[in-house]
Amino acid sequence: MPAKRTPVRELLFGNLWEYDPAPETADPNIQSRYQLFINGSFRAPLTKKYFDSLSPRNAAKLSEIPIAGKSDVDLAYQAAEKAFSSWGKLPGKERGKYLYRIARLLQDRAREFAVAETLDGGKPIKEARDFDVPMAAAHFFYHAGWADKLEYVAPGRQVSPLGVIGQIIPWNFPLLMMAWKIAPALAMGNTVVIKPAETTSITALKFAQILLDAELPPGVVNIITGAGETGSLIVNHPTAAKIAFTGSTVVGKSIQRALAGSGKRLTLELGGKAANIIFEDAPIDQAVEGIINGIFFNQGHICCAGSRLLVQESIAKQVCQKLKQRLATLRTGDPLDKNTDIGAINSSEQLKRIEHLVQAGIDEGATIYQPACQLPKNGYYFPPTLFTDVSQSQRIAKEEIFGPVLSILTFRTPEEAIEKANNTPYGLSAGVWTDKGSRILKMSTELKAGVVWANTYNKFDPASPFGGYKESGFGREGGMQGLLDYATID
Ligand code: NAD
Ligand code: MN
Repeated sequence: MPAKRTPVRELLFGNLWEYDPAPETADPNIQSRYQLFINGSFRAPLTKKYFDSLSPRNAAKLSEIPIAGKSDVDLAYQAAEKAFSSWGKLPGKERGKYLYRIARLLQDRAREFAVAETLDGGKPIKEARDFDVPMAAAHFFYHAGWADKLEYVAPGRQVSPLGVIGQIIPWNFPLLMMAWKIAPALAMGNTVVIKPAETTSITALKFAQILLDAELPPGVVNIITGAGETGSLIVNHPTAAKIAFTGSTVVGKSIQRALAGSGKRLTLELGGKAANIIFEDAPIDQAVEGIINGIFFNQGHICCAGSRLLVQESIAKQVCQKLKQRLATLRTGDPLDKNTDIGAINSSEQLKRIEHLVQAGIDEGATIYQPACQLPKNGYYFPPTLFTDVSQSQRIAKEEIFGPVLSILTFRTPEEAIEKANNTPYGLSAGVWTDKGSRILKMSTELKAGVVWANTYNKFDPASPFGGYKESGFGREGGMQGLLDYATID
């Protein structure tokens, strides 16, 4: 028998279906140690304490981040209060100029920021490059356009800024969430004290340099770092006229309790467990892409992730089969590689949470499917995961996993789909896939969710308000509605 011969092409080029490594090489320009950004300058924390910030890509230390204590937070609020007395009175047109400048500076340094975001948070470079950074710039451009047109936010009525806003953001879209918070607040004439999440503070502190380059007046934006304790100091500071929080429902509830009766305004953007609903008349291949994007975008670290797939029974088998085929082509690994689809899990804590809930899914009787894939040895990674045979009472159908894990359930009638979709304490987002326009209208009326996407998923625009119902929070970010949440109206 002749020996098995390796084809010449494979000898020359290796397995043709393997991608070559394609690392992004731009310099992220990360300092070995950062300082707090208060009153327009960088200053060491009065606590003298710092913590190590790791890259989830390989668990290596990236930088040292200051821990702000009470006196630091006091200084930040003092600076913001002082700045408010002039910033709040500046003609909107002038404020708009600063916002345009910030947007353009961010565009100028887009590549550098994208690499920093990927190293710090673990998201694939193609998402940081094509989504996070351009969208952050877009939010500044959009709100710059509003700054001199504020009389149209509430026509015929007088809108004025609230004062100093305390803002707290999560780690899944660090720079973008910061833009969502800062841009509308500033356009309206408020000043801010903002805290990024502890695992992702680097792009926030890099952004401080952009504010300096834009010559934003000192104190208009103050950036404070630290963990939950620092967040709590921001929330409870007497100078805050409003708190804007994005993060977990547990912390959101505690903030709501802390602020009750204080007279401070509050908006909360919390968790979700969105239903992505596929009817039998949907364009199946597009729907499969939408399901993949809905749950695996940003490793599933997204509050509006389509984490509960509701598929009509008649097409369930076909959809599951196509999903498995598609899953096998997803590339999980080094987030800095331009071909990577699923990057690193943000932190070892988050990885543990995902592993714990996936184990609960197995223990409670759901069937797990993961494609064969080789994960990097160092760093925090989790393969894309599907669960079939899921029932509504299982934890993986009820709790937010915040990872690349999809729970698949079925339904027979539109009424059953609505009932199952709404059977959750959350109400942030939903997706509907169908050929029928009338069904889209009916579903979007019946679904208790702040955003309903039809024949698409995870689409964002600065002009489109985003926010939740029920335990997903209240208040809106983006659009005219988002501006109203930073204003008093007389
Ligand atoms: P988390 O609530 O623990 O942390 C979010 C932020 O709050 C961080 O900056 C953290 O330092 C700060 N924080 C923690 N404890 C605090 C306290 N007692 N007082 C004040 N601030 C405090 O959230 P997490 O687990 O790190 O992030 C994931 C969660 O965030 C998920 O549940 C997700 O759904 C939610 N999230 C929601 C949205 C949205 O827009 N609705 C966006 C992103 C993330
Ligand atoms: Mn980090």
